[in-house]
Amino acid sequence: METQRPHVAIFPSPGLGHLIPLAAFAQQLATIHGFSVTFINVSTGSSPMQDSILAGLEQTCKGFVKSVELPMMDMSDIPPDTGKVVQISLTIRRSLGSLRGLLGDLFSGLPTATGRFPAISGLIADPFCADVIELTHELQLPTYLFFTSTATLLSLMLHLPTLDQEISGEYRDLDFPVQVPGCFPIPGKDLPEQLQDREDEDPRASSNKNLERQEAWGAISVPKIVPVGPLTLDLPDNPGEECLKWLDEQPLNSVLFVCFGSGGTFTHEQMNEMAMGLEASEQRFLWVIRKPHQTSSSASFFSSTSNGEDPLAFLPLGFVSRIQGRGLVIPDWAPQGRILAHSSIGGFMSHCGWNSTLESVKNGVPMIAWPLYAEQRMNALMLANEIKVALRPKMEDDGIVYKHEIERAVRCLMEEEEGKLLREKMGELKTATDSALAKGGTSYESVNDVAEEWRFGSPIWKDMKKV
Ligand code: UDP
Repeated sequence: METQRPHVAIFPSPGLGHLIPLAAFAQQLATIHGFSVTFINVSTGSSPMQDSILAGLEQTCKGFVKSVELPMMDMSDIPPDTGKVVQISLTIRRSLGSLRGLLGDLFSGLPTATGRFPAISGLIADPFCADVIELTHELQLPTYLFFTSTATLLSLMLHLPTLDQEISGEYRDLDFPVQVPGCFPIPGKDLPEQLQDREDEDPRASSNKNLERQEAWGAISVPKIVPVGPLTLDLPDNPGEECLKWLDEQPLNSVLFVCFGSGGTFTHEQMNEMAMGLEASEQRFLWVIRKPHQTSSSASFFSSTSNGEDPLAFLPLGFVSRIQGRGLVIPDWAPQGRILAHSSIGGFMSHCGWNSTLESVKNGVPMIAWPLYAEQRMNALMLANEIKVALRPKMEDDGIVYKHEIERAVRCLMEEEEGKLLREKMGELKTATDSALAKGGTSYESVNDVAEEWRFGSPIWKDMKKV
């Protein structure tokens, strides 16, 4: 019976790249592990994609996931060029007042907009929402952080205070790679962009705060870590979608999918080079394009850059008609999960955002790694040099990847021996992924173990309540 299901709340940070993995986790808890979930969203204004993802989540979870939106905060005093991490943490901080009321009601089992669910037994929050920990500690509500990226990044963040002490100067200037426990050596310039400015306290502060709180709760020197995944979100099928119909008509493994996450944007010059390179490769392709942005590579992270303008208008003259039949361009957004699962897709040119990477692995699709922002350079390094499921086009010193290099990389992935080897290796990863997620697999069992804590109470939290 619905009311007997254990109930947890999930709190993602703003931005689709963080909403999607937490929605995937909610879906897994509701459809496989028998939970009800209240999915709490911070409102950042109109986001049709967010609305559609949440509607899809509720539909696939048959009412066992309900989403609640916190009131929109006034952010008009924040300068538009403020960094994404700062914008996110300010939004969260300002939402804490309304969150306190909602969590209190959910934890006491009082009726809320979510209706009939019983009291929550835990909160799962995005690490960007570190400030919520102050609040849940007060309420004595068991709280868990869902880390949405790689184990490598987690290890780096845990090790960062030591690195910051041992290494002076900016990481990008180092002439030796950074050693992070359990990880491959990482050239300083490939560390996340947020860590490149040693004066910037924000990413460091939120990472340290998470750790301090976890220690205070009784974990030893690092938080208890539960490895889960790769988790990807399954949204309902929309067979009427034009690009999926087009893919149905293409041969097996023949199409390169080109998409740079929810936020990725190029300069106008880079967009032109991309168009000419794809055209010259003579391969089939499906390209999600955005209006170019001259100064930010993540300009569409919170909302589309297009603002009613057609991104196709920025393509070289005659491009769309010249590629007719062989290529398809889609403005702003495409159903990436469905596309990567389509049998005609043979490669994925990606910014290596972690969701995109997992979606590629899940479907056994080899990649062209073209990192843009956040921790993506580390991801690209791992995919190309360590696991060998991706190749990397060469970027020139002026920051441009020119058309001949794009043409070379695309041909190499789609037609040559090297591409075949990458596909084989990705196939092996896909098989490993399937077994990790199946009943008895590592991910399935890890989620099951932590779910037990939400069903019956965690020993750490029971001790906390006695204090
Ligand atoms: N995505 C999509 N259609 C698009 C662009 C992105 O469905 O046109 C989805 C993609 O499937 C992935 C997420 O948005 O789940 C992007 O997350 P990722 O971590 O790859 O990158 P971010 O957007 O955080 O940079």
